[in-house]
Amino acid sequence: MTERLDVVAIAPHPDDLEITCGGTLAKLVNQGYRVGMFDLTTGEPTPRGTLETRAAEAETAREILGVQVRLNLGLPNRVLMDSPENRYIVATALRKYRPDIILTMAGRTPAASPDHHQGHLLVEASRFYSQLTKWDERFEGTTPYRVPHLVYAPVIFDAENRDWHSSFVVDISDTFEQKLAAIECYKSQFDEKRFAKVKHWVSGNAAATGGRSGFLFGELFTLPHPAGTEDLIRFVRGGKGSPAPVKLPGEDMPHG
Ligand SMILES: [Zn+2]
Repeated sequence: MTERLDVVAIAPHPDDLEITCGGTLAKLVNQGYRVGMFDLTTGEPTPRGTLETRAAEAETAREILGVQVRLNLGLPNRVLMDSPENRYIVATALRKYRPDIILTMAGRTPAASPDHHQGHLLVEASRFYSQLTKWDERFEGTTPYRVPHLVYAPVIFDAENRDWHSSFVVDISDTFEQKLAAIECYKSQFDEKRFAKVKHWVSGNAAATGGRSGFLFGELFTLPHPAGTEDLIRFVRGGKGSPAPVKLPGEDMPHG
């Protein structure tokens, strides 16, 4: 039987996860969790890449983040759809790796690949399919498994200015350099000039996102429901148990 994973992160193209949540994935590994990255498609064709170069870049990025497992589910790039057949494939992988948490890239990118939004829908549906009984033949004979938790990793430039439920920020100050290095692996997508641009956006976003929660760099996540807690104090303190209040950037500003 396949060794289970604590967290499985899923997105359409190799490089999507690095950009949206690479710092958190590296941090989870540092914290002792078993993490998987599932790329729904190869990400190819693209104007500059090939199947082989993209796969090699993804593997180097995996090594940099320290993530234990990286799977490519082989669904079609550019025409990725949330369809029953694709749900069987994603759900089969979930049944094999039985994660506690699915982390999916989420949101809409109307000026970029439509795969991003379809991937979001596909992952939600596949999580539901994964638990279904009496359909084992559609899932390679694997045992039904319900993934307890779903977490969204909103795309950096989500088209909708939406009120996600339960947004929270993970402090990635200690893994931010790993995140950047993992993105830089995709030389076929980001030559020097393009990488400089991506680095600018990713750094600015991580600094602004982290700063709102008192961190140097952060990544944003949300839940599909209001967050629950039995311990208001621990929850508000961010689970650190520290009595020190979060120091926000605005507090450092002169008040005149
Ligand atoms: Zn993408």
